Amino acid sequence: MDSILKQYFGFSTFRPYQKEIVEKILDGRDCLVVMATGSGKSLCYQMPPLITKKTAVVISPLISLMQDQVMALKERGIKTEHLSSARNASSAQSIAESGQYDILYMTPEKALLLPSSFWSRMLKTGICLLAVDEAHCISEWGHNFRVEYKKLDKLRDILLDVPFVGLTATATETVRLDIISSLKMRDPHVTVGSFDRKNLFYGVKSFNHSLSFVDELVGELSKYVESACSSIVYCTTVKDAEHIFESLLKAGISAGIYHGQMSNSAREESHRSFIRDEYYVMIATVAFGMGIDKPDIRYVMHYGCPKSLESYYQESGRCGRDGVASVCWLYYTRSDFAKADFYCREANSAGQRKAIMESFLAAQRYCFLTTCRRKFLLDYFGQKCTSDKCGNCDNCTSSKKESDVSREAFLLMACIQSCRGQWGVNMPVDILRGSQSKKILDAQFDKLPFHGLGKEMTANWWKSLADQLIANGYLVEKYADVYRSVSVSPKGFQFLSSCKPDYQPPLYLPVTSEMMGNDENNNPNNEARGFGGLIPAGYEGMSQAEAELHKLLLEERMKLARASGTAPYAIFGDATLRRIALTRPSTRARLANIDGVNQHFMKIHGDHFLQKIQQLSQELNIALDRLPNSQPPIARQVINVPKAKNLPPAKFEAWRMWQEDGLSIEKIANFPGRSAPIKEQTVTEYILEAAREGCVIDWLRFSLEIGLTQEVYKNIQDIVTKVGKEKLKPIKNELPEEVTYSQIKACLTMQELGVSEIATPFNYQHVRKEDENLKETSGMSGETNLSCQKEEQLQNLEFVNGVGDCSRLRNEDAVPDSSIQSRCIEEPVDSSNDLPVATKRQKIGGVLGEATESSILSWLEKFDHGVSLSDLLVHFNGSTESSMIDLLSSLEGEFLIFKKNDLYMLM
Ligand SMILES: [Zn+2]
Repeated sequence: MDSILKQYFGFSTFRPYQKEIVEKILDGRDCLVVMATGSGKSLCYQMPPLITKKTAVVISPLISLMQDQVMALKERGIKTEHLSSARNASSAQSIAESGQYDILYMTPEKALLLPSSFWSRMLKTGICLLAVDEAHCISEWGHNFRVEYKKLDKLRDILLDVPFVGLTATATETVRLDIISSLKMRDPHVTVGSFDRKNLFYGVKSFNHSLSFVDELVGELSKYVESACSSIVYCTTVKDAEHIFESLLKAGISAGIYHGQMSNSAREESHRSFIRDEYYVMIATVAFGMGIDKPDIRYVMHYGCPKSLESYYQESGRCGRDGVASVCWLYYTRSDFAKADFYCREANSAGQRKAIMESFLAAQRYCFLTTCRRKFLLDYFGQKCTSDKCGNCDNCTSSKKESDVSREAFLLMACIQSCRGQWGVNMPVDILRGSQSKKILDAQFDKLPFHGLGKEMTANWWKSLADQLIANGYLVEKYADVYRSVSVSPKGFQFLSSCKPDYQPPLYLPVTSEMMGNDENNNPNNEARGFGGLIPAGYEGMSQAEAELHKLLLEERMKLARASGTAPYAIFGDATLRRIALTRPSTRARLANIDGVNQHFMKIHGDHFLQKIQQLSQELNIALDRLPNSQPPIARQVINVPKAKNLPPAKFEAWRMWQEDGLSIEKIANFPGRSAPIKEQTVTEYILEAAREGCVIDWLRFSLEIGLTQEVYKNIQDIVTKVGKEKLKPIKNELPEEVTYSQIKACLTMQELGVSEIATPFNYQHVRKEDENLKETSGMSGETNLSCQKEEQLQNLEFVNGVGDCSRLRNEDAVPDSSIQSRCIEEPVDSSNDLPVATKRQKIGGVLGEATESSILSWLEKFDHGVSLSDLLVHFNGSTESSMIDLLSSLEGEFLIFKKNDLYMLM
């Protein structure tokens, strides 16, 4: 599975849940996958066909979405097509029947129209799964209900034994159950991933439909355009969309527009150009982009409150799908909240009406929040949030002012109480503001003592206060149909009862932007964050030359995409491009090894791209093959700072040379680049310290180098239990003289990190350290006792532990390598039995001797979990390190092998 992942998708590790879901599907189990956008859901249905060589049928709601996915999959060398009403349909259908597609997309309408003969022919060639993408469309409770989705259960009767996979990014408990029952899923494996999109910044602001606002918006978008970052502005009406679109054009910013009143072909063209980065801004209504497949959108702005929190989460979720830091801002006006009955018009039943109303209210509450927005979103989707502050939303990053609103709260609540909770917020606000409207006069509310007492505040100020009182539990809101009524809660009564007309106990509430009135634009916090907040820092951690290279490579990627009629992101993603700019690989292997580079890319563009990297780096005067010293930032605000950051450079370097470059402790101690050699013991300590700081250590290899066997480990452990671990000397005194301080320290570190003695080699004999010269001249003297049986025992043990294989025993440890074992099993014992052992071994070494591409491949075949460079050098002891690296590089570049955690594996 790992090799298929690297080959087609360019990654060496799965993301959370993916592997488990793929395995369940391969077991024939129905699966419901509820995972956030950008968490890699689609891979769950894209892997099984590549493993089983049977077709995956995918139901997807929109043709444009299918087209994008087919385009991206083709760039990965995956045979895929969509069945649409287009003219290719009948030929695609017959190719599908013959089982030639890995993945076949179709709309629900198409799936229901296909004759049963099609399905039975498909079944004969093999269907490995039926996936229903955007599965929430199946539920009347979802926010994108589609009638045809509801009828998909018919396919269940035809595709009896095919696993059904429902996938969605947003689903409340009700929607989840609805999907399971509507698709007639049998005991499905349900995966609910995290809804937390850590790389997204969330913010909300209120605005007025003013000219200056639109100018500001245009100015902000232009910054994104300059940094070649894609943005979407979602508008609630076509009119708004057109207005902003025209303003952008006037400002000389090229943009696309997409809404329901455009012709199909105009919409398709708009979508196509945006996907291909022909412009970086899309102004759209919500008609745009259910499941839009562009991963590198950096800014999603909502111009107006969306109709539900689900749709907000999904639309804003189109931002930063590649995990790179991105920004979502929502701008609302009060008038947005009067649209409830407009949205309710879509409802067919009282139940649906209620569902629409409830999710609209949730969106409204999101706007008024003064606490962490991420926490609110996660709570809404039923995910427990341990922290009250995420540090990556406007409310968490700017300090909110609070002020004492006791008198105003008293007036508003008392007034609401006088209206007997039969009205919405507008009536009490009008009373306080002294309105003489017919409604007020008819109800004789002008006679109330509060009439006109709140004139000095604007109506929006009062409404905003009401929202805060609701959010803080002083008022409760009720909805009957679309009518909102507000009444005083028990908590509110408690407050009222402690008030007198001339005295109210203090009541501090957060000051919202509406309550700040015109001051809001002068708020220093807003200034500091800019209009839209953060611009993702694409060039963070890059030198000026690297940033320049990054820009030029972006252009190069664009050229490649244009030439092959695809989208730049389909060539490879932004994060991959960043890695390339930072590391500047000079060989096919190094390029192929970068996360996100797949086999298809290497085949088509590999050499050309390498040449470009080389040429541009030379022009910019920057060196090739820089080792990556850190992961690219996943999200600026939530970067996982590697623990190793605390490590002084000298120690980190020692660890890196040992773990990553595979140098021995001795070589590191005497490294020619060093001004003076350091003690091997010091290097050992450096590596152990790195381990304690969280750096990965190959413990078996380490134990071998310092001669720490299971026996010694246990000995040390026993003594530590007796004398404690505070001081080393007492431990050393109790142990046999040959046990070194390094071994004791290693043992203590391993204990501290929970690494058991199993990680150390089995037998002391195996690890006896001998002089390098001695080994070369006299070979393996003293190893004659080692039986094949023992060797096998060791090998089995290590396989069980998943640590490695016996051939990890290194040259400099002067131990028998696995060639002994090979000889024992495969080769007749040399006829000259009386020859000294050393001579025999040299001979055998000569036979296995130098590695070739094919001998490496056939040897790697034996090891599912991979083999390190040092393993290979021990096994093919006639090869030098550099010739071995050359061979491995060429195999890697051809995608015959790949590297994962520094181990080489067969593709
Ligand atoms: Zn927050």
